[in-house]
Amino acid sequence: MKGKIAEIFESIQGEGIYLGKKQIFVRFYGCNLACKFCDTKPESFIEYSPRELFNKVAEYPRDYHSVAFTGGEPLLQKVFLKAVLKLTRKAGMLNYLETNGALPRELKAVINLVDIIAMDLKLPSSTQTGELWDRHRRFLKIALRKEVFLKAVISLSTEDEDIDKSLDLIKDSKKRMALVLQPNSYENNADLQIKMERFRQMCSRENIAAWIIPQMQKELGLK
Ligand code: SF4
Repeated sequence: MKGKIAEIFESIQGEGIYLGKKQIFVRFYGCNLACKFCDTKPESFIEYSPRELFNKVAEYPRDYHSVAFTGGEPLLQKVFLKAVLKLTRKAGMLNYLETNGALPRELKAVINLVDIIAMDLKLPSSTQTGELWDRHRRFLKIALRKEVFLKAVISLSTEDEDIDKSLDLIKDSKKRMALVLQPNSYENNADLQIKMERFRQMCSRENIAAWIIPQMQKELGLK
């Protein structure tokens, strides 16, 4: 069995509540979505067996927080991903999954081997790719078996209705969890900042913790 991997590298997490943690990033090739603001569409990949990929990860000195499986969408290669997660888990590494939150059946297949899930909420008015609310709902139900937090990119086009729906999703889960609001770095101007503050207040009124965290990779020139 071979998996398609775009790149493997060591860096600092630039998004979400683990911001600043050192991680080994394994970027899977390919995605099932086409978000308007996407900046991670690698054009090439290398094929690895699960053991070959694990050996590459194991070459890095063990001073990192976790191994971040990212993409693209790692769950698109769920059989391969599962085999790698087994190896990293066995070696005592923490498995951190970055996902677009749209493939619930695939998540179910690997959930027991994942430690932390950074789940995107793809707001239709931000992504311009159609609604994923039902898939997000089913995905979150499974993800709640582990540590999970939510992230949503906020653009100038993002509508209040999508924030309301995100808050409904969180309230229905009956668990406390952080919602990270990420300003679209290509549109980060005064208008967007006003919008971010309005969305933060909408979260606060529902007693949901909203973290406003820009994509720090771009701010700091990190990979
Ligand atoms: S889910 Fe992520 S990788 Fe896929 S198109 Fe959207 S932004 Fe790009």
